[in-house]
Amino acid sequence: MPLTADAVIIGGGAVGTSILYHLAQSGMRNLILLEKDGLSAGSTGDSAAIIRQHYSNPVSTQLAMRSIEILKSFPEKLGQDVFDQTGWLFLVPEDAGESFKINLKQLQELGVNTREISIDEAPQHIPGLNPDGIAHVAFEPDGGFCDPQQLCLGFANGAQSKGAQILLNTPATGISTSNNRVTGVTTSTGHIDTPIVVNAAGPWAHKVGRWAGLDLPLEISREQEIMVRVKPGIPLPKTAVSNMVDRIYLRPTREQDTLLVGVGHPKANESADPDNYNRKTDAEFVKDTVERLTKRLPHMVGADLIASWAGLYTITPDWNMIADQAAGVDGLFLAVGGSGHSFKLAPALGECMAELIVRGQSDTVDITPLRASRFAEGSGMLSTYGGNRG
Ligand SMILES: Cc1cc2nc3c(=O)[nH]c(=O)nc-3n(C[C@H](O)[C@H](O)[C@H](O)COP(=O)(O)OP(=O)(O)OC[C@H]3O[C@@H](n4cnc5c(N)ncnc54)[C@H](O)[C@@H]3O)c2cc1C
Repeated sequence: MPLTADAVIIGGGAVGTSILYHLAQSGMRNLILLEKDGLSAGSTGDSAAIIRQHYSNPVSTQLAMRSIEILKSFPEKLGQDVFDQTGWLFLVPEDAGESFKINLKQLQELGVNTREISIDEAPQHIPGLNPDGIAHVAFEPDGGFCDPQQLCLGFANGAQSKGAQILLNTPATGISTSNNRVTGVTTSTGHIDTPIVVNAAGPWAHKVGRWAGLDLPLEISREQEIMVRVKPGIPLPKTAVSNMVDRIYLRPTREQDTLLVGVGHPKANESADPDNYNRKTDAEFVKDTVERLTKRLPHMVGADLIASWAGLYTITPDWNMIADQAAGVDGLFLAVGGSGHSFKLAPALGECMAELIVRGQSDTVDITPLRASRFAEGSGMLSTYGGNRG
């Protein structure tokens, strides 16, 4: 193990690998990423990885827009095709209609390619759609879904080709500081001297922050998803879909006949210990999710459950990430609190964090709205729809 690094990143999920790649791109050479398990072993590997730009706060929209550019450039720059740009549909009930209209206008002003389509048009994208209770439908042709494992691998390979090192199965076990400055990271196999540490540890970020005396405002919630296979000849949705009417989200996969489905907000958080939680779905969850799905898509009755799992959201008080330098600990950076929607932000967030680390500010997207101090200032971000919808 090398004994010194210009920067050490803790966590090999979408956020950590993106930061590593973008730091390497910026010219930093002696970089180390520590991953206690394998790449994408945390929330990233469990993610639905749906990509959309529909948010009520500009910073999330701008990060999602920039992320789509990065995802589209993946085959050329990183040799991997990780993004299925199928489009994204948002099904909205009447009681959210007013905020939907305001959001749509704001999105268009920010340059997002999105529009409201008629309910009659929606079945072109979602064959067999039951229109009951749907008041509005937004269409984003640029949205879609990703392969989360391949994304991490792509960033990791890209960083390694520029000299970065990735140490798998190597947990960080502590952060050393001197005079309120980071001086190094201890790992399961030794110590690395470094002036810069990035906490990108997902659900373990609170624990990592503790090593430097921080008490990050993060809550963990267990989140379940299922995958179903439809009978031959049954048409699947062509786009990724967020369905606020029935509180489900779904998306096709790269297989011809399978659909991933999860349950959206509003719902209660289910507190979990990241080191010890039930990775399997509850029978009641599966039953409820299938009922919601077949109510909206009646021709899906009889689809076979082929996979199910539970992962973790790491949630901040306003359901938006913290992306900042830690106050009072020079050299410690935070990219934590994905809040159930930050896979899609990770490509751009990595770029912005690299800018913050190297230049002291992020220019691609100004991420100061994601500063850690916003909660103490009482200026947390507002969210129109609540939860991870943004
Ligand atoms: C079921 C589910 C569905 C989701 N759906 C979507 C979606 O559709 N769209 C979207 O945008 N987002 C979605 N999300 C959220 C998104 O997946 C997460 O916000 C994002 O993947 C978080 O990435 P991360 O890199 O911050 O964390 P993680 O992927 O959790 O990565 C953190 C890594 O740090 C490692 N680590 C922790 N501690 C240490 C240590 N001490 N030393 C070394 N390594 C350590 C872990 O092993 C882990 O690999 C979903 C999440 C879940 C759970």
